[in-house]
Amino acid sequence: MSDKYDVIVIGAGPGGYVAAIKAAQLGLKTACVESWTSEDGKSQVLGGTCLNVGCIPSKALLEISHKFEEASHDFDMQGIIAKDVKIDLGKMMERKMGIVKQLTGGIGGLFKANGVTSIHGHGKLLANRKVEVTDKDGKATTYEADNVILASGSKPIQIPPAPFDGEYIVDSEGALEFDEVPKRLGVIGAGVIGLELGSVWARLGSEVTMLEALDTFLPAVDQQVAKDTLKQFQKKGLNIHLGARATSAEVKRKLVNVTYEDAKGKHEQKFDKLIVCVGRRPYTDNLLAEDSGVQMDERGFIYVDDTCKTEVPGVWAVGDVVRGPMLAHKASEEGVMVAERIAGHKPQVNYDCIPNVIYTFPEVAWVGKTEEELKSEGEAYKTGVFPFAANGRAMAANSAAGMVKIIADEKTDRILGFHVVGPQASEIVAQGVIAMEFGSSAEDLALTCFAHPTLSESVHEAALAVDNGAIHVANRRKKK
Ligand code: FAD
Ligand code: AMP
Repeated sequence: MSDKYDVIVIGAGPGGYVAAIKAAQLGLKTACVESWTSEDGKSQVLGGTCLNVGCIPSKALLEISHKFEEASHDFDMQGIIAKDVKIDLGKMMERKMGIVKQLTGGIGGLFKANGVTSIHGHGKLLANRKVEVTDKDGKATTYEADNVILASGSKPIQIPPAPFDGEYIVDSEGALEFDEVPKRLGVIGAGVIGLELGSVWARLGSEVTMLEALDTFLPAVDQQVAKDTLKQFQKKGLNIHLGARATSAEVKRKLVNVTYEDAKGKHEQKFDKLIVCVGRRPYTDNLLAEDSGVQMDERGFIYVDDTCKTEVPGVWAVGDVVRGPMLAHKASEEGVMVAERIAGHKPQVNYDCIPNVIYTFPEVAWVGKTEEELKSEGEAYKTGVFPFAANGRAMAANSAAGMVKIIADEKTDRILGFHVVGPQASEIVAQGVIAMEFGSSAEDLALTCFAHPTLSESVHEAALAVDNGAIHVANRRKKK
């Protein structure tokens, strides 16, 4: 077989593997290089951060821990008697690994079915679209391609005050692997990943303290929604300390001593484990030869235009390694766009319609603009809010906290933002994404028939509320 490809992808996460499959489906001779190796050192592992140590294992633990919490605390009041509910951590971890293995193995199957050649080793882009792959024994082979897609992803950021030690001070990956429930758990960073992992262990019994340097909780989220979310998390026992900057973490006698500063001064707190979740950095270690020609921006992201083209013709980059939100579905959308562009099509990613989700309980999900963004842009808008407390299905499901909030253009009524905190927000937000992709107005949603009783009726009512026409909640003003 010749070593010349139409497309070589470096990285088999949701950006890379999806790009490779799409390119092969479009008739391009495609290879995907991935360095991840199984723990026994024998085989290649596909799927990247998302499938192995990110989205999937975290959601497995969130689902299981949510069931455990419900059974432990919320069954009683519904008349279900479940005494002495216990968690078998080993079995829970086995289940998580089973799901991960099934999905990562599935990608190998998809590569075979679509004719993608999988190459195991570390890929490095050389000049003239050549890719050098070094295998686990150190043997290097060079391949040529007309197009190279860089999809090398990201890694957790380590901060000097709290260096990871893999046992007491861990990153998000370590936090998916604890072999017992820590009694006192510290989390540095109350962002999306910190909140999800903090929730898992709080539900399983840890006393969780989260230290967040910013004074504002979830600054990227619409603040009406963020404030409601914070209240609900605090009710659930997550101790979220805003305006608290961690300044050091030291392990002494099997405990982590953390110092932090807030408006009141310096403090010290001891934890059994500390998770550091202060964000992720683009991962480009040994990815680019000096003469590859690919440029990075000042924050270390590979520089690309709106179509994911780098400055070198035929070299593209997608996913966490480029600008934009670090989300699996954004990476995959970019992967598909690039494969189709290589095949001569002209698709674009609509970056205004990428949903964001925090998979806590309640879940938080949104797409489009927040009120704060619209205010700062000087846009005139109107809002419609409907609380799940007035939704029969949410009540029946014992999850009636939260709301749906729709923001629409004051004049045209076009939906500009769609925000949910509440049960199944991750699923409900898809309705907002579809509406916005189709350029819908709030009235379009208001004129749509929704099944009763469903959580989605809150979308209908929020859309009605935009024009003060909600039925099941008092409107702020009389309808004109
Ligand atoms: P990655 O998934 O990081 O994949 C990159 C791959 O490239 C890796 O397999 C790596 O081994 C390989 N690689 C790197 N360099 C080389 C090289 N030189 N040669 C060969 N191979 C190389 N996102 C969501 O959308 N939803 C979620 O619920 C969600 N939950 C998350 C939970 C956690 C705990 C974490 C850590 C992340 C989560 N994310 C979530 C983010 C999501 O995982 C990333 O946005 C996504 O994985 C990015 O995909 P990617 O393909 O760009 O990179
Ligand atoms: P995200 O970017 O969503 O992953 O969130 C990471 C969070 O960590 C951000 O909200 C940061 O403000 C927060 N953070 C970063 N450094 C520190 C620190 N030293 N102490 C407390 N919080 C921090």
